[in-house]
Amino acid sequence: MKTSPFSPITNRLWQSGSQCKRLLWYKQRGLKESIPPRPDWRTSVAKHQVHEVARRLFPGGRFAARGESLRNEGTWFDVWLESDRYACRADILVLKDKNKRTVDLYRVKSATRLYDRYLDDVAFQTVCLRAAGFVPDRQFIIHINPAADRPDPDVLFVISEVTDRLNGRLRSIPAKAAALRRLLRQEKEPGRRPGYHCMECGFRSQCWPDEVTEPVFWLPALNDDQQQIIRNREWLDIRQLPDSFPVNQRQALIREVHQNRQPFIHHTLLTDSLSQLRQPLAFLDFEADNPPVPRFQGMKPFGQIPYQFSLLLHDESGQMSGIDYLHRDGSDPRPGLLERLSVLRNHQGSIVVYNHQFERQILSLLAAWSPDDAGWLAGAASRLWDLQEVVQHGVYLPGFQGKYSLKQVLNALYPRFSYGTLTVQSGLDSQYLWNHLIVNGGSETDWQALLDYCRRDTEGMVLVLGKLREWVQGTGNQPD
Ligand code: SF4
Repeated sequence: MKTSPFSPITNRLWQSGSQCKRLLWYKQRGLKESIPPRPDWRTSVAKHQVHEVARRLFPGGRFAARGESLRNEGTWFDVWLESDRYACRADILVLKDKNKRTVDLYRVKSATRLYDRYLDDVAFQTVCLRAAGFVPDRQFIIHINPAADRPDPDVLFVISEVTDRLNGRLRSIPAKAAALRRLLRQEKEPGRRPGYHCMECGFRSQCWPDEVTEPVFWLPALNDDQQQIIRNREWLDIRQLPDSFPVNQRQALIREVHQNRQPFIHHTLLTDSLSQLRQPLAFLDFEADNPPVPRFQGMKPFGQIPYQFSLLLHDESGQMSGIDYLHRDGSDPRPGLLERLSVLRNHQGSIVVYNHQFERQILSLLAAWSPDDAGWLAGAASRLWDLQEVVQHGVYLPGFQGKYSLKQVLNALYPRFSYGTLTVQSGLDSQYLWNHLIVNGGSETDWQALLDYCRRDTEGMVLVLGKLREWVQGTGNQPD
């Protein structure tokens, strides 16, 4: 759709309007965002699957072509509605009377509960329907039933009628939309509304002053009151925060490191933590999918299903060997993955992971699925040693930028070994690409991108642990 301050208000624009008006103003004027191009596999296969199953609730429904005016009574999918004031895409419309233009509206959501914000969304679509010449009769939200154990549409979904819950919202939309339209047409850019959303905003370089190099939103878990003070005082850089600004213990530590440019390294804690490691070491990282539509026996919506791991094993002589598993089709990954992981049966040392909760959860899911393997899997779970926990309590460098993810920590300690050169740069990317490949297939280079990412995690753990050892032994350079 053509973007200009005079375009109709879209669903997406309406939803993001509450976050930052300046962002909308930039977007609606077609200003260029500094965000990297998105590869075509980075779309949510999961959302697509939920909609596909939901459509099976309406046998005989058909897709509406863009701009097609609905003439026949019955069910229509993906209907684009546009008037001079509003535009939206309705997931499912049931045209009940073609002369009176009466319709029922169904909104599909890939969540296991009905959130209040969904009502705003349906109210907006109802107003959009009216502006497009329809007479909305009843409105429904279709969301996922958390107890579903199979992808049968009658079991997978809960259908809630929300018609009576929309009234107040419907009344307020025209006035709010008019105010939004005025704002988008004004020549002067609206004020900033700084918040964590700015960290992901592609307009930050043109919105924030150049002098801000250590954004205040690197501080984790700022509460509403703290954020309000920051907005009122326009403190955008951590170094602007005065001592009187109330912070919790972790925020205080991070503020101090950035203000004094002095890294924090707790030698006693690191020494104590490293002394708990038992040789020979293993380094383990899983990648897992959590599809909203249960895929295999015993799974619930959003249940974890591991499809890949990278394991590095030290032998008694200190030599390291690597074992990978990557499932390459749509069948159940658990049998193949478990068989390959069983090299851990005979392993007795510590298993280094980054975020033990996730790896522990995967090991326990595998144990529940295969009781014959529960013994050695429980043994492996009991030997997990969480590197992230140690870093979180023992180290903070300015380069962490408020985060303790392996990606951020590795980038700060070993910039040449960062994830920036990889095709897959996050767990979410990995999930997207894996889902894309098992459905559409791909080249060996695509599969290799998944292997490279998972290996980078285990190799990264080896490097980070090595750096902690150097600091403890006093053999490495102190960071700046
Ligand atoms: S950087 Fe923040 S304040 Fe500026 S436009 Fe983006 S979201 Fe709004």
